[in-house]
Amino acid sequence: MAEVSELGLISKVVGQSGAKETLARSLHSGRLAPVQLFVGPSGVGKGQMALALAQILLCERRGSKPPLPPMTSVTSGSAAAPTTPTSELWACGVCGSCQRVARRESESLLWLEPEGAQIKLEQAHQLLEFLSLKSWGESRVVILAGADALSPQAANALLKILEEPPENSFVLLLASQLAAVLPTLRSRSQVLRFQPLSSEELRQALALRAQSVGADDAKAKDTAQAEAFPDWILEASQGRLDVAEQWLDSELLETKQVFFSSLNHWLSGQLSLTDLMESLNPHLSSLSQGLFVSGLLQQALRDALFVRFGLEPLIHSDQRPLLQTLAASNKLFDQVEESFQLERDLKANVERRLCFEALFYGWAQASRGALGRAR
Ligand SMILES: [Zn+2]
Repeated sequence: MAEVSELGLISKVVGQSGAKETLARSLHSGRLAPVQLFVGPSGVGKGQMALALAQILLCERRGSKPPLPPMTSVTSGSAAAPTTPTSELWACGVCGSCQRVARRESESLLWLEPEGAQIKLEQAHQLLEFLSLKSWGESRVVILAGADALSPQAANALLKILEEPPENSFVLLLASQLAAVLPTLRSRSQVLRFQPLSSEELRQALALRAQSVGADDAKAKDTAQAEAFPDWILEASQGRLDVAEQWLDSELLETKQVFFSSLNHWLSGQLSLTDLMESLNPHLSSLSQGLFVSGLLQQALRDALFVRFGLEPLIHSDQRPLLQTLAASNKLFDQVEESFQLERDLKANVERRLCFEALFYGWAQASRGALGRAR
């Protein structure tokens, strides 16, 4: 029955065919390394894949040999969907265990993530206890999100169990950057790389997300309109679902509108620097907002370089007049560098308004004569 297999969480993991193939091969040979390290940017499906793998490992019907997934026996000749589970990556999706895992309520699954900035020692102890108290033959899965945020004490406490986990125990470590994971943890893990999603995969992931959230949820409705999204949102999201969802926030869309329109008016001499800062100020009230605006600036400058060299695609193709003005500046390369310095300053908690004002003041000084119109 097709509807059964499609309930398995793996069918909701978009893209990441390389990681799926590796996992399928390991499962097929019965040699899945008990410690897995999923590495890749946030918002590309590491957590989803970990939960899906937990469901597969804990499914009550997996038994000795999983049945062929119904999707491979479909004879209609329709092309396989990109989310088709590879045959070994299979969970029934309906047994008690599968359902509890999907709700993250399984007694055989422990999900840990950083409390504050770090995974603390007491959380490491929680993991040790969880794996040591299991009964004979029982399978258990730990998902540890933020393996690059383990406190040194917590990492130390885990070394031994990661060296030799109890039988039928699996530890799935998730991290954004391999370099940030302690080498002693890396060496104990099978490393799986996760890639940014393509625009098409991102579109699919947004649509799937919209289906899975309640229809009365306002945010879900926003997400449901994902298909109607201009391509620039998919481009600007860098293949990350979390960033795409951030773009769905209407306040940020308004910030984008205000920033580009005031910058354009300032560069064309219709606004003074004071006016520019007046209109930007309400959009700089938190660090994340400030970083969002500096990100917009970086994207616009990146696009300006593309315009200058006749490259495609542009992230903000709806802002062509502004991009052409920026592309014409003979300080463009300096401005790109300054936009990265701006980001560093913001992260170092330099006063936000001051950061932006100093940057634009510098532009105006440098362009006296050269860019002429900016003041
Ligand atoms: Zn099951």
